[in-house]
Amino acid sequence: MAWQTIEKPRHGWAVVPNLRDYAHTCATFSWEAARQSLTGLPGGQGLNIAYEAVDRHAAGPRRDHLALRWLGKRGEVRDLTYGMLAALTNRFANVLQRLGVGKGDRVFLLSGRIPELYISALGALKNRSVFCPLFSAFGPEPIRQRLKIGDGRVLVTTPALYKRKVADLRPLLPALEHVLLVGPPEETTAIPDTHDFHRLMAEASDAFTIGPTDPEDFALLHFTSGTTGTPKGAMHVHQAVLAHYVTGFFALDFHPHDVFWCTADPGWVTGTSYGIIAPLTHGITSIVDEADFDAERWYGLLQEQHVTVWYTAPTAVRMLMKVGTEVVRKYDLRHLRFIASVGEPLNPEAVVWGQEAFGLPIHDNWWQTETGGIMIANYAAMDIRPGSMGRPLPGITAGIVRRGKDGTVEEIEEPGVEGELALRPGWPSMFRGYLHDEERYRKCFAGGWYLTGDLARRDADGYFWFVGRADDVIKSSGHLIGPFEVESALMEHPAVAEVGVIGKPDPVAGEIVKAFVTLKPRYEPSDALRRELLGFARTRLGAVVAPKEIDFVVTVPKTRSGKIMRRLLKARELGLPEGDTSTLESDA
Ligand code: AMP
Repeated sequence: MAWQTIEKPRHGWAVVPNLRDYAHTCATFSWEAARQSLTGLPGGQGLNIAYEAVDRHAAGPRRDHLALRWLGKRGEVRDLTYGMLAALTNRFANVLQRLGVGKGDRVFLLSGRIPELYISALGALKNRSVFCPLFSAFGPEPIRQRLKIGDGRVLVTTPALYKRKVADLRPLLPALEHVLLVGPPEETTAIPDTHDFHRLMAEASDAFTIGPTDPEDFALLHFTSGTTGTPKGAMHVHQAVLAHYVTGFFALDFHPHDVFWCTADPGWVTGTSYGIIAPLTHGITSIVDEADFDAERWYGLLQEQHVTVWYTAPTAVRMLMKVGTEVVRKYDLRHLRFIASVGEPLNPEAVVWGQEAFGLPIHDNWWQTETGGIMIANYAAMDIRPGSMGRPLPGITAGIVRRGKDGTVEEIEEPGVEGELALRPGWPSMFRGYLHDEERYRKCFAGGWYLTGDLARRDADGYFWFVGRADDVIKSSGHLIGPFEVESALMEHPAVAEVGVIGKPDPVAGEIVKAFVTLKPRYEPSDALRRELLGFARTRLGAVVAPKEIDFVVTVPKTRSGKIMRRLLKARELGLPEGDTSTLESDA
């Protein structure tokens, strides 16, 4: 379908967009020059994310400016100014020091969106430890794997999450020395081998000096999933903060008086890069909502908090669309100036709906865990082509490439031709490796490109259009899920002989996880067994990762070398042509 470009007014903006002349800015931009927007540690001691995000504002005129406004599930509000955030994050850095936790040690967080998460993340960075968020809806298995691969030394969590998901894992995680529990003392003190977070904070000093931090020091560990194998821990360094700042400026159009709301959970990379770091580097106010999606709550929040810049995701937009435009009309959203979305393809209908519902189009942008920050975007001052991810950020070179059979990579210059989306390495927030997995990291690069694993095309004007994934990973409600993780968990059930897992298209979630299972002799397919398997997977993996549907099949198609042909399972599920099946095992 051909969508009309959404043209924006050329004058009369309430604020002047930061990126006005795309071609000129791209031609003159340099990361070295952009570095001048940051402060650097006093005395030339390097670059630290937490200093740029918190301390430099706390030491200046923004000291009393609201940094974070936390809205609790039950209507509570907690405001933290930059000055308060500096003191609290200092305390947490001192807590880590007292526990003997130092530079490079991994500090994991497993909690909902509570203030302590934000304080711990920034305090860990001050201590030059590595912050690693875990999604609170993960089940014990994804948690165990990530803590293990990441050599987690500290875990901050809540008593409830600890008891349900972590306590039984302790013997399997010898590196995990310290568990800090955020909760009422009567609950935390009753749990052995843990510390009370608030007691340690109360005992710590609120003065802390960040030690010398090399811009290349390891700062953030974000797990992501591939088609096969265990989750991959993408390593990011303190220098990433430069990309967080610059992308906040160009792609999210941050201005000093903005009130920003990123709806993503810090358990995923968007919720850290943009839910914590980027807005703070600009000294603006960021809203944190503890509650889950609810259309009326969201519109009420946008209205009451005078949100000006809103960063959300296609699944959320589709859920709002389902509720209808009449609901949004009840709210006064005059403060809202810019809406952006990330994580999955944003349907052209959703972009147009934004225009109808808010009088503002939704600006799609693209990036991934490995890139650490936004790479391709639709900008405030640029016309939008609904369905396109936009154009590369200044400082970013993106291309469409074709991989040859001999491992070579060739750029496709011709517009409109589909290929793999690739980026020229070297931007500050690029991942520096997969922890303990050098080979998988090396495989991401060829011919001077970082290969993203996404298929896309570029039109004649340089706009990029998402086509699909080059591999079998699943995107469900914006969450990247590795089919292998799901298959492995189901294989642990005594009835299961083989499993193949795919993403099945879904009008709201984008995709849902669907498993095809063959049973061992003596087991018969039944609804009761299906329910048991669904429950089994949910208990192990958690609700986000577990399959929503299971079908029993006689065989799971495999190649002669034994690899599950998920592509074929998907084609069969969707009634599509089966494509090349020459490598298929004959009995499938
Ligand atoms: P993650 O690493 O979990 O952030 O997932 C990154 C992947 O999400 C990308 O490689 C894409 O497959 C997908 N993705 C992110 N943003 C977009 C977008 N704007 N349009 C289409 N797919 C997207």
